[in-house]
Amino acid sequence: MGNKTNYCDKCIDLIVSRGVSLDEICDCVMLLQEKYNPGITRKTVDEVIMSVLNKREVQNAILTGICLDIAADKNVLESKDLTEILVNDNSLYGVDEVLAYGICNLYGSIALTNYGYIDRLKPLVIGRLNEDHNSQCNTFLDDIIGAIAAAAASKIAHSDDGDKV
Ligand code: MG
Repeated sequence: MGNKTNYCDKCIDLIVSRGVSLDEICDCVMLLQEKYNPGITRKTVDEVIMSVLNKREVQNAILTGICLDIAADKNVLESKDLTEILVNDNSLYGVDEVLAYGICNLYGSIALTNYGYIDRLKPLVIGRLNEDHNSQCNTFLDDIIGAIAAAAASKIAHSDDGDKV
């Protein structure tokens, strides 16, 4: 087995420390799935979210993105230009979305479509994070949360079809 590190708990702590609950991620997945899976329970969705959060590449994306948000808040990044870009959530930056694609890519094209939908509509917690520019830097966080929800919804869609992602 070697010394496999599982950062799942650390990632959840990091997400919660930035003001987002797993319940709010569940709300987003429910929204994405309500049309296709009206009977789905929050318990099932919570389990799928946990399986997404247990994936190493997802954990790496969460750690990278949220730590960059925090570093921008603390003004400890090497580049003041990057700090300014992150704190102002410059719309042409785009690296936050690319990191989110990294999560979605693990869950197939449905995850990418779901993510695009969330990114465009900015429902629920995503909208709240996107509008909040004052209390903290959410440049990476909103995309990461959107991608986790999109990935979970995609995993549910695939499992409905008997496929494992
Ligand atoms: Mg963003």
